[in-house]
Amino acid sequence: MSAVDQAMTVVEREAELRERLAAVRADGRKIGLVPTMGALHSGHLSLVEAARSETDFVAVTIFVNPTQFGPNEDYTRYPRPIDSDLQACREAGVDLVFVPSAEAMYPPGFSSFVEVEGLSARLEGEHRPTHFRGVTTVVMKLFQLTQPDVAFFGLKDYQQQLLIRRMCRDLNVPVEVRSCPIVRDEDGLAVSSRNEYLSAAERRSALSLSQSLQLAEDRLRRGETDLAELCGAMRRQMEASPGVAVDYATIVDPETLQKLDSPQPQMVALVAARVGNTRLIDNRLMTR
Ligand code: AMP
Repeated sequence: MSAVDQAMTVVEREAELRERLAAVRADGRKIGLVPTMGALHSGHLSLVEAARSETDFVAVTIFVNPTQFGPNEDYTRYPRPIDSDLQACREAGVDLVFVPSAEAMYPPGFSSFVEVEGLSARLEGEHRPTHFRGVTTVVMKLFQLTQPDVAFFGLKDYQQQLLIRRMCRDLNVPVEVRSCPIVRDEDGLAVSSRNEYLSAAERRSALSLSQSLQLAEDRLRRGETDLAELCGAMRRQMEASPGVAVDYATIVDPETLQKLDSPQPQMVALVAARVGNTRLIDNRLMTR
């Protein structure tokens, strides 16, 4: 019987989760964790696929985490298509889906947070000051709840996976972190749950994010050495599309996220912009 044919378990409560996973562990099976906020798409499913190929038991968590949204962000309107998400998990061969409630994750009096200082204040942190504290806190909680051997994250959220790696190193968390490639639509747009918010015209404008990263790559290959000029060109490329307001367009060191003035062997270009009311991010790792 293939994994796809086996029944998938949907668990809402911590006690049942611990019991099920303890049995898996007692069998000597390796547990892979894929944390998500749901509204699953091909990007999420690529993480499930990576987890299936490396581990014996794949647990997906679906939880729209309130602590990583700012007060004026889209927490309440974030898509929550739970039935189709569970169906997608079933078809992808997921073994267990954990769907906790916000009340269970954050009981009255909740007051403990995990914060990765420094790295969390850069880039996204400048525009979403409480975002990463919410992310690292919920990921630590999910790690404690599931105790996975390996956890799978997307490079789409470049800064997020870097912070989680740092958190695991700094706090001796015995979880191997995998960072998986960005899944894109055919035209280059990075797949995202938030793409659902875009009108047809906004979606066309949103292409300017990946196009600006392509422009950076092309110009670096042609020998550009002035990175400040290059970041200016990325910004102008995005701003030339209707309805795009750029938050940042930058080229940084992949480990420290420090802004670079001149090319080095490994770099990452990152962009963030609002397209209409929808905030989108994208990035590209580049080598010289
Ligand atoms: P989210 O549901 O947006 O919190 O994302 C859950 C996980 O899926 C995170 O590790 C994301 O980085 C990853 N992810 C989201 N979009 C993509 C994508 N287009 N390609 C690869 N991974 C992605």
